[in-house]
Amino acid sequence: MTHTITLIPGDGIGPEVTHATVRVLEATGVKLQWELAYAGEGAQDMHGTPLPTYVLDSIRKNKVALKGPITTPVGSGFRSVNVALRKALDLYVCLRPCKSYPGVPSPHQDVDIVVVRENTEDLYMGIEYERETVEGEMLARFINESGADGVRDDSNFSIKVISESATRRIVKYAFDYARANNRKKVTAVHKANILKYTDGLFLSTAAKVARDYPDIEFESVIVDSLCMQLVRTPQRHDVLVLPNLYGDIVSELCAGLIGGLGLAPGANIGDDIAVFEPTHGSAPKYAGQNKVNPMAVMLSGVLMLRHLGEKEAADRVERAITQVVAEGKSVTYDMKPDRNDPTAVGTSQVTDALIQKMKE
Ligand code: NAD
Repeated sequence: MTHTITLIPGDGIGPEVTHATVRVLEATGVKLQWELAYAGEGAQDMHGTPLPTYVLDSIRKNKVALKGPITTPVGSGFRSVNVALRKALDLYVCLRPCKSYPGVPSPHQDVDIVVVRENTEDLYMGIEYERETVEGEMLARFINESGADGVRDDSNFSIKVISESATRRIVKYAFDYARANNRKKVTAVHKANILKYTDGLFLSTAAKVARDYPDIEFESVIVDSLCMQLVRTPQRHDVLVLPNLYGDIVSELCAGLIGGLGLAPGANIGDDIAVFEPTHGSAPKYAGQNKVNPMAVMLSGVLMLRHLGEKEAADRVERAITQVVAEGKSVTYDMKPDRNDPTAVGTSQVTDALIQKMKE
């Protein structure tokens, strides 16, 4: 069977790392047909918008996309192209597995955490009001008249929104993921002691959903306490489910625990569409230098192969990455204990080594 996949090379280092990933995925022998779609800075130049409709149409048709990081061009009218894409396709899950690979210089070994971040609401809805606008002044007046403690005249506002329905579906996803992937525990992360209505609703809804999964342990933890635990004993955590903002921050923290962004894959998933992309951004200062680590996109490709039911091929790519990282020879600068190590190789040499390893 041939899988047709929308391929978005993205900006900055995106084209290099997605090209490297296409080479590795094709070397598995799985039949993949790529439909190229341009979003981001390149698309802005070609089509006058960083998110042309044809890109969304292609993803809707194929249901699966592999995406490089995208820069949001200044003055494009988008707060973020990435957020707009997730919103347009209702990709409500941001899945970010963070797993230690032996040989990577990192603060901890044996980390195996899956971050499940809610992707559609919270402070990322973009509901913001500036002071000295009609809306900003109306809101300040409403808050002051409602009896809340004084809001200062020079305040701006960003509104945090958490709904029961969006929480239910993300927590349900976390438990279904735990069940399907033989995980033991789901931890809901919140700040309900302070944010009683928003995070309070997240927590109570999560606890309700947990009752339908008696085979999976459920616990909850306050986000600041979680950060301390992650730095000291990350091994105690398994699947974490978080509202959007905490999820964004904690997934980078977890990437740091396993040795950095070069090994942190991700996926944005909706009911019937999935877009696979690394956690890292377009790192413009390294663009075109054959320098950065392609493994985060490759591991996103591994997630994609599993999603497509190509488990054996996915295992083969992940095994090759594990071996190449453990040998520590054909790896990029970020995988070396000394980042200036002159024996670090480039993106294309890592790719050659992985393809060679898959043949052995
Ligand atoms: P970044 O992740 O692009 O880069 C931060 C630093 O991380 C780099 O300077 C580099 O040292 C390191 N790094 C990142 N990827 C690496 C790799 N593959 N190998 C080795 N080292 C790597 O973050 P940034 O500089 O904050 O963002 C740059 C642009 O990317 C911004 O325009 C931002 O909006 C965008 N961005 C896009 C996405 C996305 O498309 N999903 C995600 C994050 C940031």
